Amino acid sequence: MTETTKWVFAFDEGDGKNKKLLGGKGANLCEMTQIGLNVPPGFVITTDACLAYLDQPDHHLPTGVMDQVRDQMAALERKTGKGFGNPDNPLLVSVRSGSAMSMPGMMDTILNLGLNEETLQGEIKATGDDRFGYDSYRRFIQLFGKVALGVPDEAFDHEFNIVKEAAHAKQDVDLSAADLKEMSERFLRVVEEQTGKPFPSDPMVQLEIAVKAVFNSWMGRRAVDYRKQFHITPEMANGTAVNICTMVFGNRGNDSATGVGFTRNPGTGENKLYGEYLINAQGEDVVAGIRTPKPLDRLTVEMPKMAEELAELRAKLESHYREVQDFEFTIERGVLYCLQTRNGKMNAHGMVRTSVEMEQEGLISKEQALQRIDPVSLEQMLFPRLDPSSKVEAVAQGLPASPGAAAGVAVFDADRAHQLGHDLGQKVILVREETKPEDIHGFFASEGILTARGGKTSHAAVVARGMGKPCVAGAEGISVDVSRREAIVGATSFKEGDTITIDGSSGRVYLGEIPTVEPDFTPELSTLLQWADEMARLKVMANADTPEDARNARKYGAVGIGLARTERMFNATDRLPLVIEMIVAETPEQRDAALEALLPLQRQDFRELFEVMAPNPVTIRLLDPPIHEFLPDEHQLEQDLADLRALAGATRGMTALAGSMGLLHTPEKARDEFDAVRRVMDPMMVEEAIAKKEAMLRKVRALHETNPMLGHRGVRLGISFPDIYKMQVRAILEAAAECAQAGIDIQPQIKVPQVCTVQELKRVKAYVDEAHAEVQAKHGQPVKFKFGTMVEVVRACMRAESLAEEAEFFSFGTNDLTQAVFSFSREDAENKFLPLYNQSDVLHDNPFEVLDEKGVGKLMQLAVDWGRAARKDLHVGICGEHGGHPASIAFCDQAGLDYVSCSGPRVPVARLAAAQAALKHRPQ
Ligand code: PEP
Ligand code: MG
Repeated sequence: MTETTKWVFAFDEGDGKNKKLLGGKGANLCEMTQIGLNVPPGFVITTDACLAYLDQPDHHLPTGVMDQVRDQMAALERKTGKGFGNPDNPLLVSVRSGSAMSMPGMMDTILNLGLNEETLQGEIKATGDDRFGYDSYRRFIQLFGKVALGVPDEAFDHEFNIVKEAAHAKQDVDLSAADLKEMSERFLRVVEEQTGKPFPSDPMVQLEIAVKAVFNSWMGRRAVDYRKQFHITPEMANGTAVNICTMVFGNRGNDSATGVGFTRNPGTGENKLYGEYLINAQGEDVVAGIRTPKPLDRLTVEMPKMAEELAELRAKLESHYREVQDFEFTIERGVLYCLQTRNGKMNAHGMVRTSVEMEQEGLISKEQALQRIDPVSLEQMLFPRLDPSSKVEAVAQGLPASPGAAAGVAVFDADRAHQLGHDLGQKVILVREETKPEDIHGFFASEGILTARGGKTSHAAVVARGMGKPCVAGAEGISVDVSRREAIVGATSFKEGDTITIDGSSGRVYLGEIPTVEPDFTPELSTLLQWADEMARLKVMANADTPEDARNARKYGAVGIGLARTERMFNATDRLPLVIEMIVAETPEQRDAALEALLPLQRQDFRELFEVMAPNPVTIRLLDPPIHEFLPDEHQLEQDLADLRALAGATRGMTALAGSMGLLHTPEKARDEFDAVRRVMDPMMVEEAIAKKEAMLRKVRALHETNPMLGHRGVRLGISFPDIYKMQVRAILEAAAECAQAGIDIQPQIKVPQVCTVQELKRVKAYVDEAHAEVQAKHGQPVKFKFGTMVEVVRACMRAESLAEEAEFFSFGTNDLTQAVFSFSREDAENKFLPLYNQSDVLHDNPFEVLDEKGVGKLMQLAVDWGRAARKDLHVGICGEHGGHPASIAFCDQAGLDYVSCSGPRVPVARLAAAQAALKHRPQ
């Protein structure tokens, strides 16, 4: 920077696109001025000046800044015909901060700068309104004192209350000119007492102090904390600019007003001016809520000419910015000024509707319509939300594991959930320490799921997401006591039957029922997503396990199923006993019988999935989880056995008592009743139950693994218990043959989980080939299918080239792959150490949510490249939870994947994200 550096730009010369140099507010003021909107004249001191100032150890303004400011003030005087510090016709200005990104915590605005004892008199003379003059003066002293000189608010408030009480004024408007005059004198004394110096009366000194105060506020605690919290780097927002603008007053009488407007309704997106105003008021009166503002519709009646000008302003803003604008205006004595504008923040409904309508009006292109919406916000349109006006405090916080809000009575086990929810039609929330596959019927019967343990890829989270039900996972502040049917939350608790509300979008848990707002898949959303599909390169498929899930996914626009987890089908209430029989079978015959019974059920499952998705692909994954997950809990079994053994003693005692009956003098009736009881307490039946439970406990113990996620699961299970995979493969191919016979065009795909070596794939492929030949022979017609592999262990990535010789497609299981690459347990990390890691920036993001591009992503890229080196047309996708995350989808697009697969309700989010990813790299 040299002495000739230009530090200051007038609104009519600054580059409206250069937010980095002029800050967002300053750039917009320049732009608005240059497109001919009536902005009060002013200028911007650059962010470069701020950085240069902060760079100096003794914090003095760089050479040239104040000279240029003085020049600009002289130009302002010429433009307005007023004089800065001139008692006859004083020029007053506002001073505001403004960085490239809007940032709470920066310096508040100073208004009316330039007032002192002399200019005040000039202002009173010019306006003929001494009350207005003293009101402006006391506001200035207070704001300047607080903001630029650091005088605490309380010191002013104290004096304010003294004057107000003495005047018996209920409201500020009841204060007279004399009261306000006294107040300004008291305020001046406060400043002198607090700072040890008289209030600066020279306007140019006031201005220099104010500029420095704005610059200093960049390094203020609130601003620094905010940048840290939201990861705002210096490149994103480098220092703050200072905006100096001629004051205009909305409180100059009944021909003056102040207001805020949205060029369209931010709640609904409706193409109609929206906002409110107050006649004869200043902006801060609107904020303070002392008077109730009126809707802008009323302006047509109260100030028709101004209403027309406002309509013109609205049209100009939109046609220039091509975006909904949120603007502030002031009317001073019948002249409309625009003081500020920025892109309007809207809810998802508003964003979607305005995107589609602005495209149709020719304001924006389809590409722009797609790019202006945050994909994740679309979830607001798909799930019930908590009524935003609710003020109830949460009692616990867990992970937002599956979006949406739901209320219901708490129940603590799946059977009870089924009973109350399914049989009695009540709304229930299933509350568990953590869920297991055997709880699935409880999921179906519940409105939502709350767990005290587990992360975003835990069983509860993944199943709930698939079903589109809200889930809060890992709310560690809650301790669940199933036996007492109670949950303790800090000092309070809730019992079975108490109503609770969970918000799976925020992770919060509330006692009692909080009203919810229903979702709405609008025609505009459908239109927008159609455009997205036209732009996107990646296809979006769904993770769906049941025909119901598949139908929903289709409704949301999925073009296939990228992952059907067959274990979920085993959990249905009619399947689990068969699966358990298959596991505990002591002989091959027993096992075959169980598998024989399962085969037609699975065949029917697959057939329905094929039919719902036809003619799109359906990718069925062979059984993955450790097999003991289907068995009851060991501790529960031990408890049951202890109870049964106690009962066995009692029943034996009953038998002995029965034998002694003849020796006792018992009335006839009592004897009959006793017999009835004894018949149901048959010792043989109890012994049989004990034997069954003991066998089950032996099996549970035999199958016990210290580290089941890395244990006997996936393809390892398929190789050591081949009959299970063989049954599944046959069911898939027979279902495919049945569809082919019925003339339904389908694309079945079989994929193998947890593969780390091609030998595993070859083994499973052999089962597939054998079953394929038999099924084709039996049905007498060709059955087409594809064979592929999950890529979710590190070795699979390293051996991608070799796996691609067998696999026609790769499907990245990034839940397990993330676990493997980090060696972080996907079940525990998210509520143990990951929050601390994220807060302290050891890790920027949660890798189970946001794909870790540098580590996991790098491996994926290698696997894609090596896999395609062996098989050019290798089809590659992702089916871990990252498949529904926008930034991760952008990575998948760049890495050359063909599709992403995510839970059904995430499909719209993924479709938009896939389009945005494609547009990001498309030459404009
Ligand atoms: C994965 O690991 O990413 C995956 C999709 O499989 P699952 O979550 O069922 O282990
Ligand atoms: Mg996996």
